[in-house]
Parts: sequence; structure tokens; C-alpha cells
Amino acid sequence: MRLIIVSNRLPVTITEKEGRYDVSHSAGGVATGLDAFLGSQQAPANSIWVGWPGAPFAADKQEEVRRLCRERGAHPVFLPEADQELYYEGFCNDTIWPLFHYFPLYTSYDQEAWEAYVRVNQAFADEIASLASADDTVWIHDYHFLLLPAMLRQKRPRQRIGFFLHIPFPSYELFRLLAGPWRTAILNGLLGADLIGFHTHDYTQYFLKCVRRILGIDHHIGEIAVEDRLVKVDTFPMGVDFDAFNARAASNETARLRDMVRKPLGDCEVVLSVDRLDYSKGIDNRLLAYQRFLDDNPGWRGRVVLMLVVVPSREGVELYRKMKSKIDELVGQINGRFGTVHWTPIVYQYKCLDAEPLTALYTASQVVLVTPLRDGMNLIAKEYVASRSDDTGVLVLSETAGAASELGEAIQVNPNDIPGMAVAFREALEMPLDLQKPAMSAMRRRLRRYNVIRWADDFLANLQAPRLRLGQRILSAEHQERIVRDFDKARRRLILCDYDGTVVPLRPTPDMAAPTPVVIDLIQRLSRVAEMVIVSGRDRAALENWFGNLDVGLVAEHGVWTRRHGEWLLKNGHSLDWKSKVRELMELYVDRLPGAFIEEKEHSIAWHYRRADPDLASVRVKELTDTLISLTENGQANILEGSKVIEVRPSGVGKGAAASVFLFPEPDFILALGDDSTDEDLFKAMPRSAHTIRVGLTKSQARYSLYSQPQAVQLLESLAACGAPPADDDNEDSAPIRSVSEGRTGTAAYRTHEHAGKPLAESLGPPQAIVRPRITAAR
Ligand SMILES: [Mg+2]
Repeated sequence: MRLIIVSNRLPVTITEKEGRYDVSHSAGGVATGLDAFLGSQQAPANSIWVGWPGAPFAADKQEEVRRLCRERGAHPVFLPEADQELYYEGFCNDTIWPLFHYFPLYTSYDQEAWEAYVRVNQAFADEIASLASADDTVWIHDYHFLLLPAMLRQKRPRQRIGFFLHIPFPSYELFRLLAGPWRTAILNGLLGADLIGFHTHDYTQYFLKCVRRILGIDHHIGEIAVEDRLVKVDTFPMGVDFDAFNARAASNETARLRDMVRKPLGDCEVVLSVDRLDYSKGIDNRLLAYQRFLDDNPGWRGRVVLMLVVVPSREGVELYRKMKSKIDELVGQINGRFGTVHWTPIVYQYKCLDAEPLTALYTASQVVLVTPLRDGMNLIAKEYVASRSDDTGVLVLSETAGAASELGEAIQVNPNDIPGMAVAFREALEMPLDLQKPAMSAMRRRLRRYNVIRWADDFLANLQAPRLRLGQRILSAEHQERIVRDFDKARRRLILCDYDGTVVPLRPTPDMAAPTPVVIDLIQRLSRVAEMVIVSGRDRAALENWFGNLDVGLVAEHGVWTRRHGEWLLKNGHSLDWKSKVRELMELYVDRLPGAFIEEKEHSIAWHYRRADPDLASVRVKELTDTLISLTENGQANILEGSKVIEVRPSGVGKGAAASVFLFPEPDFILALGDDSTDEDLFKAMPRSAHTIRVGLTKSQARYSLYSQPQAVQLLESLAACGAPPADDDNEDSAPIRSVSEGRTGTAAYRTHEHAGKPLAESLGPPQAIVRPRITAAR
């Protein structure tokens, strides 16, 4: 197995000038961290890194770049210059970056940039598909490739694909600001992976919530069923190469550099701030808080220095240039206001720092300020902790950085609260050693254990764990052919088929799901070649109205009513005393959940919530179910959870018991087909020889599953296309299972309803005719 790592930038940057190629290391915490993992014993023996080489190259130079990359275990993806600009500066950095960092005002929504983003993701998918073999694992990194997992999945359905997001995943309210097709494509894009990782539990939850609200797909403990796959979504807080920082902190070179930093500062305490230039980092707020701290604490003037390191970034972009000017201005203002001949409050460097000088700064600083407005993780905070080998030092950490959820011992601040931060700076500077040490050593223990190697190892172990592929039970084309063959050969054929979600798609309200003429025609054709039974939770009026004229069996209200050969039978022996109390309670919950409504049937009552807000609904469903359980404790009624519906019906009633009436005389072909938990009853009641199929992917008693409702219709169509059953040997009756004696169905378990025998319209009031079948079934 090879590990294929995919990131926007390769760990090496290649430049060319007049035929001379220069190869340098790319900066960045993620690249450094992954490099540390690849160098460790836990890494797979073979790995290859796919990414952009850092500059555009003419076609005649690409072969040389490929060769240079190959020598370093990398594989370049070349992009047209125009696409690179629109994709990276455009969609990645002007749309995803600001929006995911909670800066909607800086977010642009540019269609051209989106299209370039799609093209670049596709180019990567093509390149990886040409490179990867079946047993390779592909690990895709970050917001540049939100569409890539699904694009690659389409080309390589069985490839193992992991995705990790290194920036925050925003809450639904922010994410929904993306145009409809974009946000759907992004969520579906990510769901192409087998495992999706985020830094914090919050980001994981936000993602799951967006999937639920936008795609309408629920999860079960972080697992989402997508076609025949289970996609796992989980939290993996990225660590740093703890041992490397720890060792570097103790090196002679670091000591030398530290002395160089410290010497000119005399006895001053050092407070450190290191960030890439970006609006998400909140550098200006930090400077304002430092100013406030000096204002409020004159005793600290002359005794503390803020080392402010700002790493240049996106210098060509106007917004970043303005931000830089503002920082320059604030530094000038604070130094001008408080500085003296002997003391400069802020030492400001606008440059990149290598690992050694950075570690020297970490070890020289009593306090580090990591106060971004929003940050996916923030590795500076962790690098500082890893470098404090004497357990001293204080971390001031923004509560909106991903690292805050792991580093609870830090002094946590709200980066918008300037006075609060000023107080925290003082607290950090004045914290006695006996408080510093336990906090720092606890954080160090945690980061030493869950370092970057463990992080990557943990992610990959999860990605490679054998996962239940729901596809193992999916009804394949061969299975389906076998069912049709069995059906074709059988003389006594029985089809037990649910209605909503099986014959017709689920709709927001039950009355929107009336059968179309096409559906009626299908049922009618089936009724000519088999004993066709609609086994539904619907009330008897609706079923009679729709299918009353057809030669079909009907089961209404999940088995309260059964009709065979035109006569309705009521399951007897149950009381309906519970019904008014249940109705009252359900009415209360209709008021408490906008969009919910009640469907009252003769012997059961249902509370639907398909149109309600899914989050509020999940709370209300729990409350309502709990109350219903205590209300129905006397055992007269059962509570049934279906697809976005809670139904209460008399005890002892179920689709299974009702359908068993149709099992005599014994058919030699049975198909039971249904889409929700109420159909499980039906599957359980079937003999072993029956073909049982659940529509939708979930755990089921049924032998097979189908992805979707249209596939159920397809299967029914292929059965309808078979001719009438072969004639019985004794030539008694060629019609399917028609010779059942009335006495058989009128067993003790059932009694005829008082209205049976009369036209149903008389007992149920005027029919609400929706579809009138043209042909009346022969009786
Ligand atoms: Mg159904």
C-alpha cells in the first residue's frame, strides 16, 4: 500500500530562472507536521505527495520539474495560470477562507472563481486517478479540495479516501450563505471520502448539521450512509512534532540565539506574538489590548517588551496591505506614546522565521499571546508549549482558536474583549511559578502524547479500519434477475408492498403523495400477474379511495384493517381509550413545533414532522416520545417511530400479523418490500423463502436493500413485465391465489367491521376521489 498525500502546495517549491532550477522547502505548519509523520516509523514505507509545484511551468519544462519532484517523493500537478489565480486567490482565499473564518463581509461570491475551483479539483482527480492503484490510500488536505473526494470516488469507486480540514468548519448559518449549488456540491464533495476529519468536536458537529439540514441526510454517531458506503466523520486535533521542538529548545544553537534576543532587553520580561498577516489573526486587537495594559499598569512600563513577529502574506491584495498599514500605525503609536530613550515597548519584525530563531523566541518569552479572532487549530500555541522544557511560561489563548478545546490550562480570552485581554496579559505576567508549572506541565503531557505523528497515525488507522460496507447487502443486478426468474416460474405469487416511500416518494405531507395514473397502472398490471397487497400505514379511506377498484389486497393503519377480496376486516380486541389523551398531547406538540401536524386515522394517530426544523424536531421528538411512553404504559397502545413520523396504534397490531393472512394458501413466491421501520414487522413475519427488501440503506431484517425508491419501482416494473403465472397442473384456476375460502380469513383474530359489506363510501362519507382507475379489476 502507498499513501498518497494531496495538498495544494507540495512540501517543496520549485523555481526556474534561465534554465536553472532551484528547490526549496515550503513553509507552513501542516507541511512541516506531515513531513515529521512521513519521516517517522509509523508512516507507510511508500508515500507520494501530490500538489502544485509553486509556480507555473511551460510545457517544455514540466518534465524536468516532474523529475525533480520524483526524486523528493512528490508529484506535481500543473495548472493553467489563469485557473491557478482564480482558484487559489479567488475561490480558496476570497470565498472559503473568509467565510469559514466567520468574515462574511470579506467573502466574495464569484461564479468564475467557483468554476475555476471545480476545474482545478477535477484536474487533481484526473491526475490522482492516473497515479493511484487500487490498494493505495489517498489522504486529501484542506479547503482547496472540498470537491475532490467525490470527483475521485467517481473515477475510483473502491479507493480508500480520507479528507482532513485544517481550517474551521463554520456553523450552518454561515455555511448556508454559499450559493445553493455550491454548498450542495461541497457537502457531496466531502462525502466522497471514507473518513472526514476536523480539528474540533464543534467543527465536526457543524458539518454533520449542515449535511442534515442541506442534504437531508442524518447521521448515526458520526456515520453517514451514502449509497453503499458509510462515511465516518470524526475529530482529530492536530498536534505538533513535540520531540523536535523539545529537543531544539535545549540545543546550543537555540541558546545562542536566545541570548542574542535577551541581551539587548536587559531585565525586561518578553511577551511574544507570532502570526501570519491575516485578518483572522486579530493582530490589531492584540495591539490595542497591549496599549490598554500599559495604560492601566504604569508599573509594567519599562519592564516588558512585546516581540511582535508578523509573517508576510498575500502582499498583492489590497485588504492585506491595509491591514499591514494599520499594524504599522498602531506599533508606531504605542512606541511613540510609551517608549523612552531606554525602552521600546514593541519590537516589531515583519518577516518569516526559521525553526531555530522561532524556538529561541519561544524559550525567551515568559508569555505568548495567541489571540486570533478565529483559527482552525493554531499550531503556534502548541509549538510554544512543546518548547517550554522547564515547564515555565504562560499561554494566553483565544477561546475561538481550535487549540482552546485541548489547552484548557491556558488563560483563555475573548479576542474582541480589549479590556479583558489587557487584564489577562497582566495576570499572565504576574503568574507565580507554582501556578505556571502545573498548568504548563499538564499541557505538555497532553501534547507529548497526542503529537503530530500520533495524529496522522490515528487518522490513517481509522481510515484503514475495515468498515461495514452496506453494499454487501445491496440488491445486485444478479439478485434482481434471480427474483424475476423465481417470480416467472412461480404459480402462486404474492407481493406485499408498502406504499409511501416505496411505491411513491416520501412527500412533505401525506396528501401530496396520492398515486399518479402511472402508479395506478403499475399496481393494476401487478395485480394481474400476482396477488398484489398494499401494506400501508395509511387509513382505510385513502387506500379504498385510491385502490378500491383494483383487484388488490389492502392493509391499512399498519394492520388495523385488512381487505382481501374486497372486504375490510378489523383486527379486534383492542381498546381506543388512549386515543383522546394521545391526541391532546400531540396537539400540544404541534403547537410546540412549527411545521408538525397530526394525521388522525380510525384506530391510530400520527404526528408528522417532515416539514419542521430538524434540530428543534429532534428535541421535541424525544420529549413527545418520553411522554407518550408514560401515557401508554397500560399496554393498550404502541408507539411507532417511522420516517419523520411518530405513530400510536393499538397494541398487537402490526404489518407482519396483518400480512400473514395472505400467506394462506402458501405462495411459492413472496416479495415483501418496504422503506421504514414499520416494515420491519413485515420482514420478520415472512418465511425464509421470501424475498425481503428494504428501500434505503439502514440496518434491517430484510435480506436485501435498495438505494432508493425509484429502484423499488423498477423492480416492480420488471415483475409486472412477466406474464401471468403458468397454469396449475390440475388446471383449477390460473389466477394468482384466488381460491381462498372466506372462513380462512375470518379467523378468531379478525372480525368483520360493522360496515363491512356496505359500500365503504356510506360508512366513511364522500370519497375524495383523486385518481379514478379507468379499468375495473375483474372479480
Ligand atoms: Mg413507507
